[in-house]
Amino acid sequence: MSGRERHVVVVGAGIGGLTSALLLAARGVRVTVLERAAMPGGKMRTVEVAGRALDAGPTVFTMRWVFEEIFAAAGETLDAHLTLRPATTLARHAWSAAERLDLFADLDRTAEAIGDFAGLAEARGYRAFCAHARDIYRTLRASFILAPTPTPLSLVRSAGLRGLGDLRRIRPFETMWRALGQHFKDPRLRQLFGRYATYCGSSPFLAPATLMLVAHVEQDGVWLVEGGLRCVAAGLARTAERHGATFRYRSHVAAILADAGRASGVRLASGERIAADAVIANTDVAALAAGLLGSAVAGAVPHPSPADRSLSALTWAMVARTEGFPLLRHTVFFSIDYAAEFDALFGRGQLPAAPTVYVCAQDRDDTDRAPAGEERLLCLINAPATGDLQTLTATEIARCTERTFAMLARCGLTVRREPDKTLLTTPSDFDSLFPGTGGALYGQAVHGALATFRRPGARSRLPGLYLAGGSTHPGAGVPMAALSGRMAADSLLADLASIPTSRAAVTRGGISTG
Ligand SMILES: Cc1cc2nc3c(=O)[nH]c(=O)nc-3n(C[C@H](O)[C@H](O)[C@H](O)COP(=O)(O)OP(=O)(O)OC[C@H]3O[C@@H](n4cnc5c(N)ncnc54)[C@H](O)[C@@H]3O)c2cc1C
Repeated sequence: MSGRERHVVVVGAGIGGLTSALLLAARGVRVTVLERAAMPGGKMRTVEVAGRALDAGPTVFTMRWVFEEIFAAAGETLDAHLTLRPATTLARHAWSAAERLDLFADLDRTAEAIGDFAGLAEARGYRAFCAHARDIYRTLRASFILAPTPTPLSLVRSAGLRGLGDLRRIRPFETMWRALGQHFKDPRLRQLFGRYATYCGSSPFLAPATLMLVAHVEQDGVWLVEGGLRCVAAGLARTAERHGATFRYRSHVAAILADAGRASGVRLASGERIAADAVIANTDVAALAAGLLGSAVAGAVPHPSPADRSLSALTWAMVARTEGFPLLRHTVFFSIDYAAEFDALFGRGQLPAAPTVYVCAQDRDDTDRAPAGEERLLCLINAPATGDLQTLTATEIARCTERTFAMLARCGLTVRREPDKTLLTTPSDFDSLFPGTGGALYGQAVHGALATFRRPGARSRLPGLYLAGGSTHPGAGVPMAALSGRMAADSLLADLASIPTSRAAVTRGGISTG
């Protein structure tokens, strides 16, 4: 029986869902993608401010090879769908008007910049840090990132006797903050490289040292995507459609159905039922566990604790004039007291009194060239994922906005904000966009050596139900979510022969087949 005679429903058109849909459609499976939003991308979303489209989700594109492999598996090339340019300057960092440091794609150039900024010993520390981060990445690439269901035991097994030394060297039981202290004495550098923990929505004070691999991923290449990151989602969706996948937007899935102990289709909020031979859920695992997709599948996944949620964010998407600071595409303005910031976020579940601010200047590239007049900015601070428990009051938002832009001003950046050209997104808004999350943007936080092993793999406990997305293995971030989508498609294809056919024929009650 050919794949085209099988019908797979993908719930959610985030990066994981899009990747699964593309790969399955390219292999001849009949695919229907059901997405509650009006466009593909999920967190990779676009908003319109003052008539201009802005990326309001991910802005840093890394691990290009993941997408090359995905498009190649569908018989396509990445270059035919996206125009990417490597960033020469990865990001600019500021602590005050007088303290600035750029990181470059060229390691020697960065070491030189660090030498000028903090002294030769720190430059040496940086080189050792890069070697350490590269070591972690190389050790974990095959044994963890690309392995479908890694466990601590499988990691040790795949390392073998010779690899045990490698595993010890990557220090899984040490915190990232502590490990960074062995490379950097300057607290600003510890802070800069500790920030990579937030790429997984985690605290550098609680995350394992292994997360330092994110630094290597950036060092390996940050790409500027022509047209913005939204083009990545659009490219995946367009290609999946061309291979025959059907996309239905504004279609909220109210329940994933099960029949005879297998996932058998979905019910939309409109009441419509769609039968399927298998279902891929690209929703957050927390939504499934909370029963937001019906009781039949609530037990199909582990139940994450709200206490373990990753970070949320407060974002300001705006069109504004800026003065006084040479922004690059990616600029980070650091708070003075990082420990206090993360204590507020994870210890007390509060917005930090002095937040670190990330600014993505979307009309700039990796040079100092500034656009004339107003420009598109996405400003982001980390926030606790309590969007389902509390709604920030107008006073709290005003105070936080004031503190955020005061932080920028301290470093010399003035942003001429205009309320009708600013769109604020809070943890409650993220919770509404991504139900069941409380606004957590990266699944569960990676706190402690074993946290990454708690993410479910592509196969759920319910036969016929597969999982894809940032809350599943190998974790959050655009390339990781894409890898999870590929794992879901691979697992489903491997199981295809054992999946009973014609579910629609045996299911009663006016069920359509997509
Ligand atoms: C502000 C922000 C900045 C970020 N920055 C970066 C960055 O710079 N680099 C990076 O690599 N990553 C970044 N990330 C993380 C990255 O965007 C995510 O990890 C990744 O995009 C998640 O993809 P996903 O497959 O989990 O799907 P999601 O994006 O979570 O999408 C899931 C989809 O499922 C849909 N859905 C949910 N429930 C239902 C339902 N019941 N019925 C129908 N549809 C449903 C949702 O509408 C959504 O479209 C950022 C995220 C945010 C929010």
